[in-house]
Amino acid sequence: PGPLPTGTRSTETHCPYCALQCGMTLTAGDRPATLVPADFPVNRSGLCSKGWSAAELLDHPERLLRPLVRAVPGDRTSPLVEASWDEALDRVVEAIGRTQERYGRDAVGCFGGGGLTNEQAYQFGKFARVALRTSAIDYNGRFCMSSAAGAANRAFGLDRGMPFPLSDVAAADVVVLVGSNPADTMPPAMQYFDEGRARGALHVVVDPRRTATARNAGLHLQPLPGTDLALANGLLHVALAEGLVDEAYVAARTTGFDDVRAGVAAYWPDRVERLTGVPVEDQRRAVFALARAPRAIVLTARGAEQHRSGTDTAQAWINLALALGLPGRPGSGWGTVTGQGNGQGGREHGQKADQLPGYRLLSDPAARAHVAGVWGVDPGDLPQPGRSAFELLDSLGTDGGVRTLLVLASNVAVSAPDARRVLSRLGDLDFLAVSDFFLSETAELADVVLPSAMWAEESGTMTNLEGRVIRRRRALDPPVGVRDDLQLLAELAGRLGAGHLFSADPETVFAELGRASAGGTADYSGITYRRIDDEQGVFWPCPATGDGEERHPGTPRLFTERFATPDGRARFLRVEHVEAHERPDADYPYVLTTGRVLAQYQSGTQTRRSRSLQLIAPTPRAELHPDLARQLGIGPDDVVELATRRGRARFHAAVTDAIRPDVVFAPFHWGGGSSANALTDADALDPTSKMPAFKVCAVAVVRIGGP
Ligand code: SF4
Repeated sequence: PGPLPTGTRSTETHCPYCALQCGMTLTAGDRPATLVPADFPVNRSGLCSKGWSAAELLDHPERLLRPLVRAVPGDRTSPLVEASWDEALDRVVEAIGRTQERYGRDAVGCFGGGGLTNEQAYQFGKFARVALRTSAIDYNGRFCMSSAAGAANRAFGLDRGMPFPLSDVAAADVVVLVGSNPADTMPPAMQYFDEGRARGALHVVVDPRRTATARNAGLHLQPLPGTDLALANGLLHVALAEGLVDEAYVAARTTGFDDVRAGVAAYWPDRVERLTGVPVEDQRRAVFALARAPRAIVLTARGAEQHRSGTDTAQAWINLALALGLPGRPGSGWGTVTGQGNGQGGREHGQKADQLPGYRLLSDPAARAHVAGVWGVDPGDLPQPGRSAFELLDSLGTDGGVRTLLVLASNVAVSAPDARRVLSRLGDLDFLAVSDFFLSETAELADVVLPSAMWAEESGTMTNLEGRVIRRRRALDPPVGVRDDLQLLAELAGRLGAGHLFSADPETVFAELGRASAGGTADYSGITYRRIDDEQGVFWPCPATGDGEERHPGTPRLFTERFATPDGRARFLRVEHVEAHERPDADYPYVLTTGRVLAQYQSGTQTRRSRSLQLIAPTPRAELHPDLARQLGIGPDDVVELATRRGRARFHAAVTDAIRPDVVFAPFHWGGGSSANALTDADALDPTSKMPAFKVCAVAVVRIGGP
């Protein structure tokens, strides 16, 4: 390539979408910007179609460039009209004051997202606790990673999605993927699987659908959704019966195995086959391969985790990995495949209802004292833990619930379960403010909409699925009239009398985040922007100890010597299979499961507006087995209506033998009449993680019309 035109510059940054955080080089000057993949250690010059098309949206005609307010304040039937930032922010602050005066501090709520940078997530948590002094804050990661996080904290004393670098996946001789489909959700990650397969590694995929990942695997187990826990217990039963357990490892590095040993005795193979549908022979093949491999990894993801027993399901797979002596060995272990771009960092810095930065608990007096010291406030002024995401949304507009809500980087009208109920609750609010780049389905309902900067226009850090902290670098200026969320929070804090405590400078906020996290499990205190630049990312924990050669190198691989529990041992925990909250019956005879497709991302606010992605995935398609389609008189591309106890939604039929005949799959990237989450069940939350049952409910299917 020749020299760049005058005024044009290239910036190394990262994809705005998923947790792989692929490196890319963005060239910008005169818009439109262009991008190419970077040879970053994670994606090694790969990008998927979402990443390739990311720059398209920076100049999208539907981008919000000015704040919007209701033409008639307080009347959400009046149109949204453009306003100045001052007017919009004044309306937000007036609503906060009115609500807190009338209903108390906790009547103002905050809802964040796993796409926020670490700095924004940190600042949002601090804003809620210090500027608003409300307990009412949670975020959309509660619907994503909370079960795996809960299980990892319980078993290992620390939650980092993958406690090892991605390169370990390439080095493993066996990888078991449970409810994960990286070939569609993060294709560049398949390089690591391909590398392993080229060496002869066996990949085992556990998924009710024969996904692109399953098609490439050596063994595909196809359980009924919601039975992954029973399968894991069954595999451990076989391992015990066949003498495959690593008793020396169990004795030296774990506690609690005897109880688990007793518990899995009831999961004999033919019972597990009846519960899950996975043949006894396949169970045996999987567990023998795992146990005999010199290096083996078990990875769970949302398919296993988004259940009312999601935390216990992740624990069951951790139990299996521990019994086989995997965690802490190079090329081996248990991990979870994070979904959202900053799904890892988003849950570490205090935007969760029960947490403070550094993964500290808000209920812990020592944690409160430490963080309050960094924030310059009295620990007694910090609120107590608040409601989890769905409980918060379900409280909107109710007595004792949230009356004014500020939403950053989240489209709950599409992404929350039982979406019709959530839409109705949003309508009951006294006041809703939403910061976003487009008029999302949630922003459409707001009293005030604040236009935010997009990824390429802001600076900050993200933490990828390996726990590698990386730099999102500003490649171009945001359009006039657009502000980033750090600016927004600093402006609001200023109007609320706390401006002196809130910087809008990302590097300053990151340094403060480091101090707040020091001594916590997710310790960022030794990480600086400079180090991230020099080292192509730094893995936490990285405490600020030593200098020069002596400084802490970061921690790519965890648990090599000890786990992060008080006694250094991993904890087994006995867990039992429970039936899904909703089972098929005469009215709703099939199982509905939901998930993602390659060319869309999360609630689709961005990807549904991308012209090139729309060409690949223009319409939502529900997958049905040919036997079920025949029985219901449904042909390929026919319009079908899926109905559950909560609502109805229409899709085009994709008739495929890649799915079990008793299961229907619907993608969740669309809203309106094709909202998969209008169907999902939020009545039974996981008792530990508060995760709703996104992956299982009972559904009826009818043909509505032809293609
Ligand atoms: Fe972006 Fe994820 Fe695709 Fe990489 S895999 S380009 S991070 S969406």
